[in-house]
Amino acid sequence: ISEVKNADSSQCMRVAVNIRPLITSELLLGCTDCISVVPSEPRVQIGSHSFTYDYVYGGMGLPCSALYDDCVAPLVDALFHGYNATVLAYGQTGSGKTYTMGTNYTGEESNGGIIPKAMESIFRRVEAMKDSTKFFIKVSFIEIFEDKVFDLLDPNSSVFSKAEGASFAKPTMHARVPIRIRETMNEGITLVSVTEVEVMTKEEMATQLSRGSHSRATNLTNMNSQSSQSHAIFTITMEQNKISHCLAGAINDDLGDDILRAKLHLVDLAGFVRAKRTGADGRRFKEGIHINKDLQALGNVISALGDKKKRKEGGHVPYRDSKLTHLLQNLNLQDSLGRSSKTVMIACVSPADINVEETINTLKYADRAH
Ligand code: ADP
Ligand code: MG
Repeated sequence: ISEVKNADSSQCMRVAVNIRPLITSELLLGCTDCISVVPSEPRVQIGSHSFTYDYVYGGMGLPCSALYDDCVAPLVDALFHGYNATVLAYGQTGSGKTYTMGTNYTGEESNGGIIPKAMESIFRRVEAMKDSTKFFIKVSFIEIFEDKVFDLLDPNSSVFSKAEGASFAKPTMHARVPIRIRETMNEGITLVSVTEVEVMTKEEMATQLSRGSHSRATNLTNMNSQSSQSHAIFTITMEQNKISHCLAGAINDDLGDDILRAKLHLVDLAGFVRAKRTGADGRRFKEGIHINKDLQALGNVISALGDKKKRKEGGHVPYRDSKLTHLLQNLNLQDSLGRSSKTVMIACVSPADINVEETINTLKYADRAH
């Protein structure tokens, strides 16, 4: 059994496919389900194509609640052990990425989204460990739109000033100031003054998630656009300090070694934009170019990292080809890949026959990561 485990953990990235049910708008169009799942196998069949992944949910496979337990719970566990981890939701617009991640969290309907579930699990564990460990937990929430990074938790954002009663002009993308990005010595980048909010409870973390979700939706809706035109990254930073070590540290002032620090990144990616569907509108076209470039660059990075030979030889991984990958490198995607399964990609697909072409594209993209 241990050999199997080793083989598994040498894998670069875990890949899961999440097939959502047909939604009302698809049923009204008379769409039919064009994906079949091979029972008890993580395999998807669509037309003449067949793909195998680490996990497949929806369809006729496992119930969706297993997705969190299989894919995300191990990453939360890794976080407590001091490892960085990343969850990437990929798929066409409308395929269920935001639903799956829980990035549109309003606090009311606690859908089974990954982020709300992760929050619950983290604080349950923090509570259980509180006698032996001191925790310091922070969150940040950013959005990448047309190669610019925006701070969704920016306290100065006009979205959050409304409560003060002033009559503000509706916030737009243009009103927001992107976060400044600074290059670091080792070809990385850092975000200058991104807001990081300390949270002590699940409720406080939920408040930040819903605040950022609101900010994301508000800014984009006012531009006649949808939030799926941006990548959103919710990051949980955890610092742990064993209490016994705290006391000892006061004597031998060697505190640094006793602090365990790690980040969990939860990424809701924008959907690939097809020129055909979006029409010739100049603005949308420009957005599409950025998004597709980002997703292509991410695919290239994942392939390069997945290429064991290349990795061993220290081969070139094209992180710098887009803001998204450069940032993910910075957020330690590189670190989390390759060592063990601390990165999961969840490819979201619609089962509707009208989406068959995009679904196959998503499945191919995910296959490349696998
Ligand atoms: P995306 O973020 O990929 O553009 P969304 O998450 O917004 O897609 O989902 C599109 C629509 O499908 C939404 O109306 C959402 O409520 C619905 N949906 C997505 N996943 C599921 C699911 N597993 N079960 C039921 N409805 C879903
Ligand atoms: Mg979305």
